Amino acid sequence: HCRANWSSDDSDDDSEGSGAECLYRVVLLGDHGVGKSSLANIFAGIQESHDHSEDTYEKTMTVDGEETTLIVMDTWENEKQEEDEKWVQDYCMQVGNAYVIVYSITDRTSFESASELRIQLRRIRQAENIPIILVGNKSDLVRSREVAVEEGRACAVVFDCKFIETSASLHHNVHELFEGIVRQIRLRRDSKET
Ligand code: GDP
Ligand code: MG
Repeated sequence: HCRANWSSDDSDDDSEGSGAECLYRVVLLGDHGVGKSSLANIFAGIQESHDHSEDTYEKTMTVDGEETTLIVMDTWENEKQEEDEKWVQDYCMQVGNAYVIVYSITDRTSFESASELRIQLRRIRQAENIPIILVGNKSDLVRSREVAVEEGRACAVVFDCKFIETSASLHHNVHELFEGIVRQIRLRRDSKET
């Protein structure tokens, strides 16, 4: 009953998995180098592999006793061709059931980009109440911090989204992040059902 909408050009070949009826696409957004791929790899349980070509990961998580399958899309940055990038980014903005907007706490420019992405997302998906989580990554790099926790939190209040600081290097708060997404998705699903 809670299967997300798939765009018609996608093959839907997960019919053998009977346990996971809830399937959602989570799109990672953010500047280059903020740690999107690192977070995606931790989600997928991949360690120290930099030469993999995958950019979409699927995993079934049990959160609060209920199973949910997340498809995490790390496709925002297309390193192949500049021309492709626009298309890929437009696509990303359309297909997510939830968004993770990542910045690095050591890079103020990436924090500013996060705000722009939030605005862009709101414009493109105007009518929808999509779960968005603002993520300040690299919280382990205390000495090079350029964005205070309070700034991240305040930004999330303004943009009406959740906020968490993570460290992909230390695996700190990464599972909490993905569990948080699942809970946000369920909150919206449940409020629709009533
Ligand atoms: P992406 O471009 O957003 O996909 O970023 P990557 O995941 O490729 O990470 C960019 C660089 O930042 C890599 O060298 C990572 O090892 C490093 N990095 C990612 N997350 C963290 C973190 O939480 N702490 C630290 N210290 N470095 C990180
Ligand atoms: Mg990357």
